[in-house]
Amino acid sequence: MFPLSDEQQLLVRKAERFAEKHARSLAGSGSGLKKAKAVYEAYAKAGYHALLIPKEFKGQGLDYVSTGLVYEALSSRLPGTLNGPVTTAHCAEMMKIGLTGNHLSRHLSSIAAHKLAAGFCLTEEGAGSDIASVTTTAKRSKRGFAISGKKSIVINHALASYLIVFAASPPSKGRAGLNAFIVDPHLPGVTIGDAYGPHESSGSVMGEVVFDNVTVPEESLLGEEGSGYLLLMETLDKGRPIVAACCAGSARRVFDMVLGHAKNRSQFGKPLFSFQGISFPLAEYATRLQASRLLAFDALSRIDAGLTFSLEASMAKLYASETLLGLASFAMEALGYRAAFESHEIRRIHHDAQLMMSIDGTANVQKMVIASQL
Ligand SMILES: Cc1cc2nc3c(=O)[nH]c(=O)nc-3n(C[C@H](O)[C@H](O)[C@H](O)COP(=O)(O)OP(=O)(O)OC[C@H]3O[C@@H](n4cnc5c(N)ncnc54)[C@H](O)[C@@H]3O)c2cc1C
Repeated sequence: MFPLSDEQQLLVRKAERFAEKHARSLAGSGSGLKKAKAVYEAYAKAGYHALLIPKEFKGQGLDYVSTGLVYEALSSRLPGTLNGPVTTAHCAEMMKIGLTGNHLSRHLSSIAAHKLAAGFCLTEEGAGSDIASVTTTAKRSKRGFAISGKKSIVINHALASYLIVFAASPPSKGRAGLNAFIVDPHLPGVTIGDAYGPHESSGSVMGEVVFDNVTVPEESLLGEEGSGYLLLMETLDKGRPIVAACCAGSARRVFDMVLGHAKNRSQFGKPLFSFQGISFPLAEYATRLQASRLLAFDALSRIDAGLTFSLEASMAKLYASETLLGLASFAMEALGYRAAFESHEIRRIHHDAQLMMSIDGTANVQKMVIASQL
């Protein structure tokens, strides 16, 4: 790949050291809110939730390429544990776009310095891929806006100090009526649902959030009224190559695991790797892994350079997430009976790979974005 600067090499080495130190506690067994809290706190203590927050607001002040390198390095050693910090980074990016002056510095500094978590509240029962059909409403009131509705799945929901909530005002306007609000989860009318079961998530916590006539001040609105859809598109586009870099990191972990096994285990008097049924898929996945990284870092470098990046971001997310899932499925096969044990790492990675397919838009949604720009 492209040569890394001294600073980037240092960041990657630091991430590798962090991962080694925390390997047992973060990637080991366990799940649920307690585990997710411990994982989040460890990452936030090291500033990994605030990589993209500028230094003037007490963040790490990294660009997108460096952020991708760090998340890739962490994922290659602690796969599937980064959804919490990455979601906070995602929300902070929305704040960078939608806030100015005091509001911007207050919220970003608070997230970075106090190691806080944020949750992104978009998906509803009737609004998944079709985000313009959000039915959560934000009605103008004397004191600002009153928000009502239910969000189905929110990462960090039970840890967050900030929620970014997408609501329609008025609902009939579709995309043009979509707005984003910063909501304090402790406000009256906000109900944080139970965490989804251990099989639904690993390393992060997620669940429903209900808003019942929650009053937020005018200043909670991110950007101009009616700009929620554009804000959402820009941040989803920026998030996709980050997710791709995480997928590439996890895929590296799986690849090394299968390659090691294939070279060390013998059947029929020869290492598994000597059979083309095993070595050819590995040759193909080595190539796909490299392509995933190149696509992710191409999109990330375009963001840093101020070029258009929506097409490249969706290509990267599509390719890297499909590569991770395909490789994890192959690994389940190549590891034989070992992969049948619940405790084997590959089972957790395979499960996370399936979840990564939906985060920041499904494969078909990425294809819709790509096709619309051909
Ligand atoms: C682990 C995890 C964490 C998540 N975290 C969050 C979060 O923090 N905040 C949040 O708001 N959301 C979150 N989501 C939700 C995620 O964004 C949605 O799952 C995603 O947008 C898809 O919506 P859906 O699941 O309702 O699927 P649907 O939209 O119902 O889609 C189901 C299937 O139909 C396909 N499909 C739909 N429409 C079309 C079409 N027009 N053409 C072709 N195919 C189509 C999809 O590709 C998919 O395969 C999370 C999801 C997961 C799995």
